[in-house]
Amino acid sequence: MSEYRNMTKEQLLAEKANLEKSYADFKAMGLKLNMARGKPGPHQMDLAMDLLKMEDYTASDGTDARNYGNLEGLEEARALFADVMGVQPQNVFVGGNSSLQLMYFLVSIGYTFGFQDSPCPWSQVEKPKFLCPVPGYDRHFRITQEFGIEMINIPMSPEGPDMDMIEKLVAEDASIKGIWCVPQYSNPDGYTYSDETVRRFASMKTAAPDFKIFWDEAYIVHHLTDEIIETPVLLEESRKYGNEDRVFMFTSTSKITFPGAGVSALACSDNSMKYVCKRFEVMIISYDKMNQLRHVRFLKNKQGVLAHMQKHRRRLAPCFDAVKTTFAQELTPCGDIAHWTNPKGGYFISLYVMPGCAKRVAQLCKDAGLVLTGAGAAFPYGRDPEDSHLRIAPTYPSLDEVEKASVLLTVCVRLAVVEKLLEQAE
Ligand code: PMP
Repeated sequence: MSEYRNMTKEQLLAEKANLEKSYADFKAMGLKLNMARGKPGPHQMDLAMDLLKMEDYTASDGTDARNYGNLEGLEEARALFADVMGVQPQNVFVGGNSSLQLMYFLVSIGYTFGFQDSPCPWSQVEKPKFLCPVPGYDRHFRITQEFGIEMINIPMSPEGPDMDMIEKLVAEDASIKGIWCVPQYSNPDGYTYSDETVRRFASMKTAAPDFKIFWDEAYIVHHLTDEIIETPVLLEESRKYGNEDRVFMFTSTSKITFPGAGVSALACSDNSMKYVCKRFEVMIISYDKMNQLRHVRFLKNKQGVLAHMQKHRRRLAPCFDAVKTTFAQELTPCGDIAHWTNPKGGYFISLYVMPGCAKRVAQLCKDAGLVLTGAGAAFPYGRDPEDSHLRIAPTYPSLDEVEKASVLLTVCVRLAVVEKLLEQAE
């Protein structure tokens, strides 16, 4: 096959006819496939069912986990998340089943009351802003959008977001109050920030005294290869520069045990911990300590978590490989029409198609029974300026379904690109 960009109009028309036939064959299969959300499959959740076998509800310090109390979490739960995140237990607050909810509450606190270091609540700032490395996690962006906080796109690279741009913006503009980051195996590219990027986040000067880094470690132990990639711990790194109050680190067991019934955690400085507890205690008396205890008994410590994640990897790695192999076989011969990331962990692969084609690809897939995350979803306000990015989530379907979905996806990419090239040839 010759490369699409070198094809004559006649060749493109012939290729289009071939692809339309393959596409019609897929459509006739009446498929119902979904690679939209980063959900673990049932087999992954089955791995954690032993967690539910709990007979005794007494924590190691004698606390009855069934009762009120311990707003910051059980000692042993704080110790488990401290081990996983690389911080001290007194800097860990253990929440409910969702880290996203902790993030929402913190943005809400900033907006309504401000933080201990805020000159005023963010709602009283004329145009409060957040920086958003893109592509990023759509649900982060929806939180800031909900509060009317303006979002500024920051380009991503395999080393992390563009730090030159970030340092310049935050040094100049006190209305920039925060940034969304997924430092390890980022959603959706699967990139891990470099040590230098983390150091620059820890040390940079900000015009806003209450600038906050929302450092979402959703995929901190979600390795897909033998390489255990770890980044410097932002909270500890920031301490070296006296900037620890700017850090909110998050994680959860959503993609370790159960997304609907796991445990989340926040790590922050001593000052922030005091302040956050003061605000949270108005809202809630204590979180679900029975679940905290179950998780500690099942996972034990970071070593236990990593051992459990190996079991996930056995199921997930073949699904990721299937997608990448199909892309290489079906798209590489077409020339420069698409490229994709090669994550060493996390839950997603980013597929970048020829600009102006992503929406069309997602629509073609949908019409043939394959649901993808909406094109543009990984950008603030759902707007991908290039209309190029698609987020692929290969975790939920079975391997067989992932294989089928990947081939269909490549047919749709090729068809959309041929259509675009023909349009341009007009
Ligand atoms: N952060 C990121 C980057 C995610 O990808 C996800 C889940 N897709 C979440 C947070 C949600 O986490 P939780 O279930 O703890 O709310």
